Amino acid sequence: MNIVIMGAPSCGKGIQAKLIEKKFGLEHISTGQILRDFIAKNNKESAKIKEIMSRGEFIVDSLMCKIVSLKLDEINDKGFILDGFPRTEKQTKFLLKHYSPDVVLYLHTDKDIALERCENRVVCPVCKKSYDKRLVSNLVCPDDGEILITREDDKPDVYLKRYKIFEKETKPILDLFKRYGKLEVIDNNGDIESTFNEISKILVNMR
Ligand code: ADP
Repeated sequence: MNIVIMGAPSCGKGIQAKLIEKKFGLEHISTGQILRDFIAKNNKESAKIKEIMSRGEFIVDSLMCKIVSLKLDEINDKGFILDGFPRTEKQTKFLLKHYSPDVVLYLHTDKDIALERCENRVVCPVCKKSYDKRLVSNLVCPDDGEILITREDDKPDVYLKRYKIFEKETKPILDLFKRYGKLEVIDNNGDIESTFNEISKILVNMR
């Protein structure tokens, strides 16, 4: 089973992707995480990527398509859950041509709720897990004991820019997937568990 998960920035698609990975034995591929890992290498190339991401802008389609195809070719027959790709029409056409997904899960989230989740998102610099800062004590990662940090692109002005780009570039893709009969829209305004229950119902029926 090959899945794409989509939704507004910081709506919680990474958390759902991790839960799907665990329950359905798929490979979670997060393009945002791949890019952040690359940035951690601290070289000339990664500095450019870092600058673009911290402005809240997209990395060029050609590079993103290359990164994703390298990853997808690597996992062979194990199904995938793709998180963060596609984000543009070009990326969508590339995906549909080469790695047609079985289903696209769109996590429908109100803007004020996504913004609130962003304002409260902190991440562990070591294990990369994200947390709601209202739910962790002393802002310390429960697994690693590391101090949790705010992502550069989760700062309010950058987030609003990312949201604008999402509405302009990414939301229109949904129509393309709808036309192919692959789109499933899930209400993501409630808690993590209710969203995951909805997702599970869809995926169980597809097995
Ligand atoms: P979020 O989980 O908040 O939606 P991600 O971790 O998926 O954010 O992505 C963070 C950033 O990485 C994006 O704002 C963008 O700069 C870059 N990025 C990730 N995936 C893509 C992509 N498919 N195309 C272009 N840029 C991307």
